[in-house]
Amino acid sequence: MRRFILVLIGVLAISCTSTAQKETKKNKKSYKVSKTDAEWKKILTSEQYYILRRAGTERPFSSPLNKLYAPGIFYCAACNTPLYESKYKFDSGTGWPSFDRAVEGSVDKDVDHKLGYARSELLCTTCGGHLGHVFNDGPRETTGKRHCINGDALIFKPKDKK
Ligand SMILES: [Zn+2]
Repeated sequence: MRRFILVLIGVLAISCTSTAQKETKKNKKSYKVSKTDAEWKKILTSEQYYILRRAGTERPFSSPLNKLYAPGIFYCAACNTPLYESKYKFDSGTGWPSFDRAVEGSVDKDVDHKLGYARSELLCTTCGGHLGHVFNDGPRETTGKRHCINGDALIFKPKDKK
C-alpha cells in the first residue's frame, strides 16, 4: 500500500512539473507592454479582451473593418502599435480583415493546435495579444500569405489623422 502511495505521489509530482513547464514555456517571452488580466479587462472591451487575451475569434463578417479599404493604418487595440497598412489589405471573402503582410517586426508567429492541426497564430510583438492566423493561400501575385485578423483586435486610423 505504501509503495502504491509513493508511486501515486511520484506520478502527481511528474504531472505537476510538466504543467508548470508548459506554462513557463508559454510565458517565457516578455513583452514590452505587459499587464495583468485585471488591468487588460479595464482597458479593453469584452470583445477585445476575448480575442486579444483569450485568443478568441469573432464571428465572420461581424467586423466593420472587414470591408474597410480607406488609406490608413490598423493599430493593435491593446497597445496601439501599428500592425497593418490598408494598402496590403485585400478581400479574402472569409469575413475577416485580411492582409498579405504585416508592418515589419510588429507581428510574431506561434503555432496553435486548437482545431486539432497546426495553425500559425499571429501575435502582437509588443503586447503578445492574439490577432488571428496566417495561411498560405493569400494573393499569389504578392506574398502568397493571408493574415486573417480579427477586426476587434485592431483599431483603424485614417491616413491624415494621427
Ligand atoms: Zn499589441
